[in-house]
Amino acid sequence: MNIEIPVERFAGIRTPFYYYDTNILRQTLDAINTEVKKHDNYFVHYAVKANANLKVLKIINEAGLGIDCVSGGEIEQVLKAGFSASKIVFAGVGKSDWEIELGLEKDIFCFNVESVPELENINDIAAKKGKVAPVCFRINPNVGAHTHANITTGLAENKFGIDMQDMERVIRLAQEMKNIRFKGLHFHIGSQILEMDDFIALAHRINDLQAQLEAVGIQFEIINVGGGLGIDYVDPLGNPIPNFKDYFSVYDKHLKLRPGQTVHFELGRAVVGQCGALITKVLYVKENAIKRFAIVDAGMTDLIRPALYDAHHHIINLTSTSPRAGQPSPNGQLPTVNSQLQYDVVGPICESSDVFDKDIPLPETHRGDLLAMLSAGAYGEIMASAYNCRRLPEGYTSEELK
Ligand SMILES: *Cc1c(COP(=O)(O)O)cnc(C)c1O
Repeated sequence: MNIEIPVERFAGIRTPFYYYDTNILRQTLDAINTEVKKHDNYFVHYAVKANANLKVLKIINEAGLGIDCVSGGEIEQVLKAGFSASKIVFAGVGKSDWEIELGLEKDIFCFNVESVPELENINDIAAKKGKVAPVCFRINPNVGAHTHANITTGLAENKFGIDMQDMERVIRLAQEMKNIRFKGLHFHIGSQILEMDDFIALAHRINDLQAQLEAVGIQFEIINVGGGLGIDYVDPLGNPIPNFKDYFSVYDKHLKLRPGQTVHFELGRAVVGQCGALITKVLYVKENAIKRFAIVDAGMTDLIRPALYDAHHHIINLTSTSPRAGQPSPNGQLPTVNSQLQYDVVGPICESSDVFDKDIPLPETHRGDLLAMLSAGAYGEIMASAYNCRRLPEGYTSEELK
């Protein structure tokens, strides 16, 4: 099944907007559940920072996934969507007091703690509230990931987590704190990871750490391996569902568990990435001596990934009726590609980085055409900003637009 973009239903909807194909989302969730059901000790927490649209969240909740939050605002949002607090893991390198208080009041499943000062603060706040905080430590495993430098998180130089050499000392400290219960270890090495070898390296590192702790009598229940599974941005139409079978079997094969241990996953992008598209209208087409630009009404404020991570989103023209096979461009100078024309697709924001893609083939494109930027379900709508005093894009599901 491919993403379906029913352009005939878009009449009257203000562009740019996000469109979510709920069939793709549900099929993705089914594919996850098919793998997870093979293990009674695997739990997936959807990483809500990828997309916090309420309509999307409700579908993910219906599929039974837990949730991974990185802020108090996210905790509020997922509770509104109907998630049970008992399925919330709460990560983040800098949790504010009110966010910790909220987590304690709601009795969330676990705090993923990233430093000793944070641990001490959680202990203090929990003591004032008469609570005991369940805690996993986020360990920096110094495992690199083959992904963009801005989204690798598991190297010693990154700000995340606690160094491996401090792990034992920090666990001992936690075990002496009255209002902390040490539950396990947490990891997250980065995002948009497509090489299973990176996850295999993480599993082996976790095995080593577990053996090291076991040797000094430290045991625990929870191993949280984080998220990071990537999606196919190059061929989203050919490959709409990530390979969850290979992903989960990495941990099945390589992670050595002790009796009673549970394995937790925090997938974000892989859950929602392919179900979403950013729909934008072409405002103007202009040419100069070397370039043909399609200037669209979406900008980096609506989808920042290309500007921030050099990300590529496959762009299609939903409404052009004229492929003009083999014909020269209007001024007869610019090249054609695969009998299409070649465009830079750019936004209206006053920044040179406000470019979605360069020199891509599209059928001849006119003012008023609708374009879709595919694979935009993750880190799209949620990262929108009001820079240039722009309105935030709306998000619609296929179910609403019937
Ligand atoms: C962002 C994040 C995730 C999700 O990452 P994806 O690449 O979207 O799967 C999981 N865990 C933590 C701690 C994160 O910060």
